[in-house]
Amino acid sequence: MLNIKNLTKKYGEKVAVDDLTLQVGSGQIWAFIGHNGAGKTTTLKAVAGIIEYEKGEILVDDINIKLNPIEAKNIMAYLPDNPDLYEHLKGIDYLNFIADVYKINKDKRQENIEKYAKRLAIYNDLKAPISSYSHGMKQKLALVSALLHNPKLLLLDEPFVGLDPKSSHEFKEIMNEFVKGGAAIFYSTHVLEVAEKICTHVAIIKKGKLVASGEMAKIRGMKSLEKLFLELENE
Ligand code: ATP
Repeated sequence: MLNIKNLTKKYGEKVAVDDLTLQVGSGQIWAFIGHNGAGKTTTLKAVAGIIEYEKGEILVDDINIKLNPIEAKNIMAYLPDNPDLYEHLKGIDYLNFIADVYKINKDKRQENIEKYAKRLAIYNDLKAPISSYSHGMKQKLALVSALLHNPKLLLLDEPFVGLDPKSSHEFKEIMNEFVKGGAAIFYSTHVLEVAEKICTHVAIIKKGKLVASGEMAKIRGMKSLEKLFLELENE
């Protein structure tokens, strides 16, 4: 579903992502972990098609993000770590705007808005302006907006930050349902205990370079993900 080949991204002289190669298959949930400034957000942004990169190739369901950006973006969703929402809009207007962008028909949008907004406990707040939302409520709205078009690939930058325990639990269930339906999820996180439980795969990035990647159970062995991560960081 996602094929990243030899991705290199520089900011001036600074190499943020260095020759990164990774394949995420459908039905898989990947945790992307690394220290602050390791290159996670940069990688996610490159895959989402919102930053340029010097070298490499990125295919989403075999569609090249540089050559066919609209087609590729149509089948994926990207949730940034700090989503910029249009604060003057009401929650429902924002969701309808996103549904318009993805050309989602009336029935489907109604069904998905109800389903996900109710599950994430934001449905009753959709008539209020986004400017009145708490941080967690904004995060929930952004998550609902990312799910509306039933993306095949979900790219999430620290999706659990700000969510209360119930919504966090609900979102993990939603993630599982998505991959059971054939989608793939690639998400960055610093919460290793959760990643260890819900992810089928893990990729660890250090100073822009991938230092471990593959099936969670194989990569971890008998160690906790935290222990493995700390060992790799200290090498
Ligand atoms: P965090 O866990 O703190 O979110 P990250 O792994 O997502 O970190 P990135 O945001 O991808 O890290 O940053 C990778 C490197 O690129 C860092 O050294 C950062 O300073 C640098 N960087 C990121 N964005 C820019 C930018 N717009 N201009 C210049 N340097 C940048």
